[in-house]
Amino acid sequence: MFTKDITTRFGEIETPFYYYNLDVLRDTLQACQNAAQKYGYHVHYAMKANFNPKVLQTIQSYGFGADCVSGNEVKAAIEYGFNKDKVVFAGVGKSDKEINLALDAGIFCFNVESVQELLVINDLAGAKGQKANVAIRINPNVDAHTHHFITTGLEENKFGVNVWQLPDVADTLRNCKNLNLLGIHFHIGSQITDLETFKTLCTRVNELSEWFEQKGFNIKVLNVGGGFGVNYYSPDHDNIADFEAYFKVFSDFLNVKPNQEVHFELGRALVAQSASLIARVLYVKNGLKKNFLILDAGMTELIRPMLYQAYHQIENISRLSVAGSQLSDKAIIYDVVGPICESTDCFRKDVELPESFRGDLIAVRTAGAYGEVMASHYNLRDQVQSVYSE
Ligand SMILES: *Cc1c(COP(=O)(O)O)cnc(C)c1O
Repeated sequence: MFTKDITTRFGEIETPFYYYNLDVLRDTLQACQNAAQKYGYHVHYAMKANFNPKVLQTIQSYGFGADCVSGNEVKAAIEYGFNKDKVVFAGVGKSDKEINLALDAGIFCFNVESVQELLVINDLAGAKGQKANVAIRINPNVDAHTHHFITTGLEENKFGVNVWQLPDVADTLRNCKNLNLLGIHFHIGSQITDLETFKTLCTRVNELSEWFEQKGFNIKVLNVGGGFGVNYYSPDHDNIADFEAYFKVFSDFLNVKPNQEVHFELGRALVAQSASLIARVLYVKNGLKKNFLILDAGMTELIRPMLYQAYHQIENISRLSVAGSQLSDKAIIYDVVGPICESTDCFRKDVELPESFRGDLIAVRTAGAYGEVMASHYNLRDQVQSVYSE
């Protein structure tokens, strides 16, 4: 929540920038750890959600593992002190260079997405005289009931191995002497808020781990991925996702044998609420049908609304009451847009805000996940800066 104290401090800082509230980040990490520990669950942080140095340091200090989707993320995880025994490497298109880097780093596990990738990792590990730990990413054909741009677990998606290909996977694993099958892996999509979806996933995981066990494989790790969503509509009143309820679904519905571990890969739910994008109103354009607030930030700083039609709460934090709520004696409906030369460069249409003026500070809330990391230099824009609560 923004207060006048914070906005006074912002007065001197060049916009746009990401503002990180490290208290919110730490409270979220603690809540997640407490809930996971109750069940002995292992949580890896999905680094692609946010690899801001201070964010990574903080997350690492809580003992999370790292879920990486590129060689550079594997490298960064090790550099930032994540334990290599807690680093997993997923991704549908790992290059030979990236696989070699991860083999040299001695990571915990490759989450493998095709039969061909199994063969390549087997060859590359063999060339180094190593045995690589692998988990098979299976596409469980579960509808995540999220935006179709961020669903990943349907047969039409490019990710993972489809169930009908599993006999081929089993044969390949038997013939690959440099691979050790550690477990099975799933990740069905992002910003999933309906816990029923995870219940459906549990049922599929139970069936598929049973399938592997019956084929004579020992499944030690059940990695159920991430995707747990946050409340974009109410960032102040609901700023920590209900990790208790989330993990309880798996505790209730996942069949876990005594020798098995359950692993998670949470990204968004750990970092989304800890940051806002702060921008300034450059111009106010009043039209006959539309009023526009033109900000000094756009899709080059936060692309989620333009890429996924994502909703973000937008506040004018120059017009706060003493209690911190937005003054709204004179509310006006604006389209809040950026300066980039694309018509899609709009944060949201028809936003009700207090009457706003050139120079006002605007906060785009819940921007800690898939925000700063997706910033670009399109239009030769400056690199977006970060400001921290401490
Ligand atoms: C992106 C990703 C995650 C994290 O997803 P969130 O929705 O941010 O929790 C986890 N696992 C894999 C394989 C991913 O690609």
